[in-house]
Amino acid sequence: MEKSGEYEAVIGLEVHIQMNTLSKAFCSDDASYGGDPNTHVSAISLAHPGTLPRPNRQHVEKAVKLGLALGCDINPLSYYDRKHYFYADLPKGFQTTQDGSPICLGGTFTVTTKAGERKIRIHHIHMEEDAGKSIHDPDSQGSLLDFNRAGVPLLEMVTEPDFRSSEEVYQFITELRQLVQYLDVSDGNMEEGSLRCDCNISVRPQGFDGLNPRCEVKNINSARYARKAVDYEIKRQIRKLRQGHTVAQQTREFIPDQGITKLLRDKEDAHDYRYLPEPDIPPIEMTESTIERIRRELPMLPHDYRSLFETKYDISPYDSNIITEVKSRAAYFKQLLESMNDVPSRSLSKLYINKILPYLDENGIEAHTFPLSVTHLEHFLQLIENNEVSSSIAYQKLWPALLDSPQDVRQLMDKLNLGQTSDQDLILQIAREVIDQHPEQVTKYMRGKKGVSKFFMGQVMKKSRGKANPQMANEVVLNILEELANHK
Ligand code: ADP
Ligand code: MG
Repeated sequence: MEKSGEYEAVIGLEVHIQMNTLSKAFCSDDASYGGDPNTHVSAISLAHPGTLPRPNRQHVEKAVKLGLALGCDINPLSYYDRKHYFYADLPKGFQTTQDGSPICLGGTFTVTTKAGERKIRIHHIHMEEDAGKSIHDPDSQGSLLDFNRAGVPLLEMVTEPDFRSSEEVYQFITELRQLVQYLDVSDGNMEEGSLRCDCNISVRPQGFDGLNPRCEVKNINSARYARKAVDYEIKRQIRKLRQGHTVAQQTREFIPDQGITKLLRDKEDAHDYRYLPEPDIPPIEMTESTIERIRRELPMLPHDYRSLFETKYDISPYDSNIITEVKSRAAYFKQLLESMNDVPSRSLSKLYINKILPYLDENGIEAHTFPLSVTHLEHFLQLIENNEVSSSIAYQKLWPALLDSPQDVRQLMDKLNLGQTSDQDLILQIAREVIDQHPEQVTKYMRGKKGVSKFFMGQVMKKSRGKANPQMANEVVLNILEELANHK
């Protein structure tokens, strides 16, 4: 909780999710991001007179998919409305959206914060379309317009004012991004604006149940910015209240390079959108059987993977969080877990996080094209498990060699002479040498500084270039030292 003394923050989000459908919301124009300006536009995107919209099945089904994943009620009959405002990037003079009867109602999204799990209630999710883009090019006179984005399908998710801190907001956006990627409803690419949110923020005295007037910070396209904007607003509003002022209801914008919010407009300038039912699109009907089909098709979600990894395979929550960041990586890890028998799952997760994931990042490849086979990985981990190679040598030397030229792991280990030695005579010889070379340390040991044995142990490992079986080395060192102590 954002406890700035006697005040608490109250925050609600409106999140716009740009969907990854092939075509636009109301016509067959290409909906993909980018492209040369005004190449994804037909007469319908440009709202020429006489053109008519046609709803997009993928838009509707993906909305339902997200709704079902969040436990929303699916509206059996939802309608489109027209929301009027005048802006150059809005060719029709209105946005086609859902006002009175959104496709998804209710639901909750549980996010994980440092303080534990927080349930955020969803008010509703509705379908709508994006506007075009104005480009304010300093080299040309006036502004330029690109209508490629006009009509691209969006979902707007509106939450209840259930957030109490910027950390919760940050987690929500981060986890929502992950969820839409798992569900394949959006690419979740924040840089390209696939997830943009308006943060509504107010503060109130602790213990007060009512809602104070809020400020809405518009159009934030990163979880980090949302956190900063919320923090700034909370401080600003608390300062106002402390000074005996009230907080005016306002629309504000976030200025990233200064980390502040700035006034855009007051409540008095609020739009009158003149909502009207959209007469050109019939009601969207969702039958029970379609809803059930979509429900059956829901994939495993981040939290399903996490609970599988944590409960069945005893992976730590910290590790399973990292592993489930990206769906294909979670799926690949699951596949590895399921195909390995004699390897502890925690040593697999250690290898996955420390070696495999960084390799994927560095080489920009997908998990399923990782160059080593399950057998390679299994044998690699078994050699460590059976103390045939020390874990550090395996990670530092055997692993890069194996990646360099994938082959039988044991043969490679032998070829490179990396195997751990349990040759007692050899270890004994090394230990004697080391102890002979450091009489002053031996004296310390005899005076009762037993910890010195660790120093010798380290020397033996070093001299054997990490190959001595550590347990054996430890025993041998202690034996010699004790013997010396007894014969002094
Ligand atoms: P509007 O219709 O004016 O956009 P809504 O009631 O739909 O207002 O709320 C929009 C968003 O603002 C929701 O996410 C809601 O949770 C949030 N919200 C509403 N009132 C407050 C408040 N007093 N403080 C913080 N957030 C609020
Ligand atoms: Mg609103």
